[in-house]
Amino acid sequence: MQIVNQSVLTFSADNPPFAKAASGEVLKFVTMDCFSGQLTSADQLVHHLDLSTANPAAGPVYIEGALPGDLLAVDILDIAVADRGFACAITNKGPIADLTEARTKIIPIEDGYARFNDLCWPIRPMVGVIGTAPAEGSIACGFCGDHGGNMDNRLIQKGVRVYLPVRVEGALLQLGDLHASMGDGEVSGTGIEIAGEVLARVQLIKDCPIHWPVLETADRWYVNTVAPDYDGAIFAACRELARLMEPAYGWDATDILIYFSLQGGAEINQSARPNKMLTFRYGVPKLPGKRLLPEA
Ligand code: CA
Ligand code: ZN
Repeated sequence: MQIVNQSVLTFSADNPPFAKAASGEVLKFVTMDCFSGQLTSADQLVHHLDLSTANPAAGPVYIEGALPGDLLAVDILDIAVADRGFACAITNKGPIADLTEARTKIIPIEDGYARFNDLCWPIRPMVGVIGTAPAEGSIACGFCGDHGGNMDNRLIQKGVRVYLPVRVEGALLQLGDLHASMGDGEVSGTGIEIAGEVLARVQLIKDCPIHWPVLETADRWYVNTVAPDYDGAIFAACRELARLMEPAYGWDATDILIYFSLQGGAEINQSARPNKMLTFRYGVPKLPGKRLLPEA
């Protein structure tokens, strides 16, 4: 199995591929935590760190045969995390920032549980950053866009599939920024930030363009978007979801809108960004015989 243990800080067609993979191949991504391993003790606050190396993503992986307009399906087969992560409050960040101070908490991970003060809960490791190279330019891995990136969707856990657009030859898949656990909104600006390893299978689906990354869980489909506000995020997500549903369900947009109103779910991925962007997911139940995207 190929081990992808190089990290980069941007999504860009100019990043030379670290590995080449065939459709169907399983790879192991070895990922650093979001601060590239700089945080080692509770005395270090986020404003002491060099943030120019934040949010490294392992890759890029060139997918053989991938061309713009294709679709990349990434199955998250397993996520292993280190035995210690950290979570932070950051100066002036989050909805109660005026009441808080900068703080770093070391979070031990023991037997699958995270320990925080006098509480413990089962970890649910997730992938914060995952995406492909944009058609043009370079996007820092800390940002999120229609290529994926720092989506911070807490449902990107073991057992799900992430569909990503292919916008450049080879797709150039990258992933990183694992969290042992994270709440919706990630309101302090961090989950349990942690190093680890992700086992993922890549599959190429030819000629199937998508506008935004799609997540398929055991029971739901989600479109992931990002916008400066809620209105923009839900507009983009519902339009893309409706576009994918029309052929699968054989319904027109009006019936889809009414169905959204009855069965849809508007959920927050991340809401504490420095650039005030909201990363968002909108989902509908998965139903037998109604796949929104090909199985591969
Ligand atoms: Ca993140
Ligand atoms: Zn993170």
